[in-house]
Amino acid sequence: MSGSDAAERPFREAVVDLGAVRENVAALAAAVAPAQTMAVVKANAYGHGAVPVARAALAGGADWLGVADIDEAHELRGAGIDAPLLAWLHDPGAAFAPAIERDIDLGVSSLGQLEAIADAAASVDRIAAVHLKLDTGLSRSGVAPEHWAAVVARAARLEQAGHIHVRGLFSHLANASPDDDVRQVEAFDRGLVQASTAGLRPEVRHLASTAGALRVPAARFDLVRIGIGIYGIPPFGDGTTAAELGLRPVMTLRGRVAAVRRVEPGTGVSYGYTWRAERPTTLALVPLGYADGIPRHASGRAEVWIAGARRPIVGRVAMDQFVVDVGDDHVETGDEIVLFGDPATGAPSADDWGDAAGTIGYEIVTRIGPRVPRRYVGGA
Ligand SMILES: *Cc1c(COP(=O)(O)O)cnc(C)c1O
Repeated sequence: MSGSDAAERPFREAVVDLGAVRENVAALAAAVAPAQTMAVVKANAYGHGAVPVARAALAGGADWLGVADIDEAHELRGAGIDAPLLAWLHDPGAAFAPAIERDIDLGVSSLGQLEAIADAAASVDRIAAVHLKLDTGLSRSGVAPEHWAAVVARAARLEQAGHIHVRGLFSHLANASPDDDVRQVEAFDRGLVQASTAGLRPEVRHLASTAGALRVPAARFDLVRIGIGIYGIPPFGDGTTAAELGLRPVMTLRGRVAAVRRVEPGTGVSYGYTWRAERPTTLALVPLGYADGIPRHASGRAEVWIAGARRPIVGRVAMDQFVVDVGDDHVETGDEIVLFGDPATGAPSADDWGDAAGTIGYEIVTRIGPRVPRRYVGGA
């Protein structure tokens, strides 16, 4: 890029490629067909921006949208998005009626939630669309197997009474091992039989997230819930790259060099002097820190792309900035920095940062902070 382009670019930003969202969704939808796809856009679309990503995912062929909280669903409805939409993690005092009035499908993880949703539906004279969740072994939310028969029986009665419609039955995989996945698929199958015996005829049965959708065909059922894959980040943590999965990273975290200095051997860098120069070298200052979601755990470990090469972070990541060693190469204030993006460009990936910080790519993108503006490219 030319110097004048660089000068117009802000200090720090996350560039979100909506074209990559569309392509990733289309590729994933083709891979799992005939199963439908739900684009999971919880947590502000894993830090990418819920509304623009939801629109791009629908344009790419997603059939459903999924979020954790009802408030996240309201944000999408408030933006005029009217696609099928499921929210599955509820505050004990959640306001279900406004969600039902906005055609937000509700995940149900207990008999108490089922009754509260049926009451809320009656109070606004609507039929609530629910997806009953069975705990098949993740031990988070979901109805425990020993209570499932009672919940599906009660749901069938509430359906007959006209208060709810059981649109879906679902569960969530632990992705612990192939054997564990198979056991969960079998537990889900048993739950489906019990629901059928109780008289339920759901439209969508769904179990798999990105990892299961790609590697466990038996887990696809009618619908897969795809989160991390639509952001172009591999789910597996085993070194499989996005490119090998036919996916393109959506977020590029970039900035501009804020300062450059030449230092002598022995010079200590950043708080606590965890690193000292061993030779004369040039240091570049990157204006992002842990306030922006850069993990302090990546101090001295992660790399960034500056002046045509990957360069190591030296010393501790601070709240607003960190330092990179560029050796004897020529770097100027204002030069482009890519913290992570598409590795095809030479930059590190979000997964590389996850490895460096002892976490996963999911956490890296999701924690990028509010001080980092998101800029959308690749069309609406
Ligand atoms: C977050 C989430 C997903 C998406 O998982 P990925 O691994 O990002 O594909 C799917 N289902 C549920 C219930 C979730 O909470």
